[in-house]
Amino acid sequence: MASKRDYYEILGLGKDASADEIKKSYRKLAREFHPDVNKAADAETKFKEVKEAYDVLSDDGKRSTYDRFGHVDPNQGMGGGGGGDFGGGFGDIFDMFFGGGGGGRRDPNAPQRGNDLQYTMTVEFKEAVFGKETEITIPRTETCDTCHGDGAKPGTKPETCSVCKGSGQQEVVQNTPFGRMVNRRACTNCSGTGRVIKDKCSTCHGAGKVKRQRKINIRIPAGVDDGAQIRMTGEGEGGLRGGPAGDLYIVIRVKSHEFFEREGDDIYCEVPLTFVQAALGDEIEIPTLTEKVKLKVPAGTQTGTYFRLKGKGVPKLRGYGQGDQHVKVTIVTPTSLTDDQKDLLRQFGGMSGDSAATDQEHHESIFDKMKKAFRGE
Ligand SMILES: [Zn+2]
Ligand SMILES: [Zn+2]
Repeated sequence: MASKRDYYEILGLGKDASADEIKKSYRKLAREFHPDVNKAADAETKFKEVKEAYDVLSDDGKRSTYDRFGHVDPNQGMGGGGGGDFGGGFGDIFDMFFGGGGGGRRDPNAPQRGNDLQYTMTVEFKEAVFGKETEITIPRTETCDTCHGDGAKPGTKPETCSVCKGSGQQEVVQNTPFGRMVNRRACTNCSGTGRVIKDKCSTCHGAGKVKRQRKINIRIPAGVDDGAQIRMTGEGEGGLRGGPAGDLYIVIRVKSHEFFEREGDDIYCEVPLTFVQAALGDEIEIPTLTEKVKLKVPAGTQTGTYFRLKGKGVPKLRGYGQGDQHVKVTIVTPTSLTDDQKDLLRQFGGMSGDSAATDQEHHESIFDKMKKAFRGE
């Protein structure tokens, strides 16, 4: 393995380069060699070389060590990088172009938004239709009230980790037969948090967050359907170091109903009709979501016919109005007839003969259609 190139040489600068010149040169070269932009085979290697040079030369402590001793193992007591660090990866090219040299690595001390939570809630069919106010209890992580999330005993503050200088990462350099390997890993002194808490908060033991069973009031709007999500801003897990809380998403599952079926804002149901009611016509009572209503079934109604009850459906979730209720009638054939009933039906059959089911209307009855099919029409 060839000896390492001089860091100043890599950045094309002299030993007396100012911090500004180092930064400018680094940004220029990093753009040039960033693997997202430069597809040359050695771009990645060059990018890493440039980055490593910058990591050292942009840090006053590391730079003076380098100036005195040349290349040393950064694991031997050298801290992490400064503000312009790109972390272990390549960093986000957009950060570099637009963000003014910010890094891909997240600052472990930056405020962190809490996680979103999801809660699945099963409601009764009618609760979804009419809405409901309810209370749920969810386990969630909240920001510790005692220390306001920094994990330190009130009156004290977490200190920046002296090993990683707050970056939360350590470089591990190994000299292998194949060359020098640089790996980054979470700082062992601070477990990657970048800070050390001497006096831990007694409530959260330094975590900055606590687990709680939290009761939350929920208003389920009238008209929600199965699979709907209700978002409750800020009711998710607490943020860290002053970050905002996440959101809570409530996923609604609607139980099925034994009589009503729902499709969007419309309700469907099926009612039985005797063949006498269907033949002679009748007024029947139909249950709706709110009340009983009367439905006139005309004489000669066929099985499978739908009737519409306007406005008896589900309230529209957005906007005004309601869906409809659709009533399907099914004609039930009698099964246990008395001898008298059988006689009457035989008489009826004899009287009507083939025309028993012939429609008085102009449209073809299903019997006509079937006869045609038998004749091969
Ligand atoms: Zn605490
Ligand atoms: Zn550390």
